[in-house]
Amino acid sequence: MSVLQYNLYDKHGIPILPGDTLKVFHYVAALRREHRYMYKYVLAVESRGEDKPSLLKISHLNLRNQTYWQIMDNRVLYTYEVVQGFGGVKPGEDYRDRKRAKVIPDIKVCPLCESNTQVWVNQLTNKLTCHRYGCNNKVLE
Ligand SMILES: [Zn+2]
Repeated sequence: MSVLQYNLYDKHGIPILPGDTLKVFHYVAALRREHRYMYKYVLAVESRGEDKPSLLKISHLNLRNQTYWQIMDNRVLYTYEVVQGFGGVKPGEDYRDRKRAKVIPDIKVCPLCESNTQVWVNQLTNKLTCHRYGCNNKVLE
């Protein structure tokens, strides 16, 4: 018998918990290349039994109260950043005081679009580049 104990982590390796507000990368605007973000709110951890990773239930913060789920399988979500949250720590502390996972940058995953199929070293520039439509040959290092 094993009780699965998995988490999800933001780009800094901070565990994501219910009650957290998340800043999530959305897209790069065509005009001025501005990065656009959305904000989400973590509602709950939903257990699916001890043989499956739990789900993190997340609110879109819209008027229709729509939600979505992320499987808690120990991934680092490179487009997610906790910006407020007071769970899991002592009174007076916040999300920055949580025990962090060591984030090993996976240079094959684009931190902007999470594509892991269209990131490679551009043969002309010799720089690691995301070639996905939307990232438009963004140089990643
Ligand atoms: Zn990309």
